[in-house]
Amino acid sequence: MIDLRSDTVTRPTPAMLQAMISAPLGDDVMGDDPTVIRLQAAVAERAGKEAGLFFPSGTQSNLAGLMAHCARGDEYLVGQLAHTYKYEGGGAAVLGSIQPQPIEHAPDGSLPLEKLAAAVKPQGDPHFARTRLLALENTFHGKLIPAAYIQAATDWARQQGLATHLDGARVFNAAVASGKPLADMCQPFDSVSICFSKGLGAPVGSVLVGSQELIGRAHRWRKMLGGGLRQAGVLAAACLYALDHHVERLAEDHENARALAEGLRGIAGVKVLSQDTNMLFVEFEPARCDSLTAALGEEGILMRAVYGGPTRLVTHLDISADDVQRIVQAVARHLA
Ligand SMILES: *Cc1c(COP(=O)(O)O)cnc(C)c1O
Repeated sequence: MIDLRSDTVTRPTPAMLQAMISAPLGDDVMGDDPTVIRLQAAVAERAGKEAGLFFPSGTQSNLAGLMAHCARGDEYLVGQLAHTYKYEGGGAAVLGSIQPQPIEHAPDGSLPLEKLAAAVKPQGDPHFARTRLLALENTFHGKLIPAAYIQAATDWARQQGLATHLDGARVFNAAVASGKPLADMCQPFDSVSICFSKGLGAPVGSVLVGSQELIGRAHRWRKMLGGGLRQAGVLAAACLYALDHHVERLAEDHENARALAEGLRGIAGVKVLSQDTNMLFVEFEPARCDSLTAALGEEGILMRAVYGGPTRLVTHLDISADDVQRIVQAVARHLA
């Protein structure tokens, strides 16, 4: 099976499963699971932050982060297409009573400073929600957000008295793609949510990092959101294994995505729209979308060609360079 739908589909490797089986465990709600403690400390250190907190999902990690920054009636500035706005069920508004202020993205995925500035509400006027936080995402749909932009946007936010949060579901992809340590990617932000269940290949798990104080507040929200897990070390062990063994290899996913884009570019009926880190977006000839999806599925290649829109293809731990050639040949055969 070659599954191109997402990098969340990876199965734990035998060595990762072994690490999970042999992890020392405790009760993390009581705060004494040694493997969770070790993971949280390792991720915080690598991210250059004081503290970390383990979550069952990135959605919950982002939400607890937003709730740790913003109180009821506060507002966060966020991209119109950002995961924390569009793909998390409206949790910030529904569960956090935090008003989102979505901002249109520039083509490179950034949120233009003039649009951010225009969206900040006058302070002290009861007509308005209190603008409290800027939330960015990196990578964003696979795109590496330029470091200079992130520095400028977070500097601006600080001048406005806003806190800053990064949805870093794929921040390790950003670090590897830019050849910089994780701490450099996290440094401009007060908090960062990092997923281990994407390219890093763990079955479950995210870690929120930030100051001791912020993480303390997020810890309370995590409990309330149902994210306090007991022998969570069995999951944290997979994340620790990924941290030690699956970070540098993200470069292979990026190379495989590049090779896939190159291979598909030569095929009539396929238009490669973009390729960044481990994601590519392509457009298939509309009339062939359904038959292509079905034909590839029969060959064990999973993707869903979107009629009249971009189709997202994602490389990951379970897709090899040989698989990329198999995909290219299969697409060429079916579109011929
Ligand atoms: C996957 C993802 C998350 C978190 O998703 P979960 O499925 O809840 O772990 C957050 N942000 C982005 C950009 C993501 O891709």
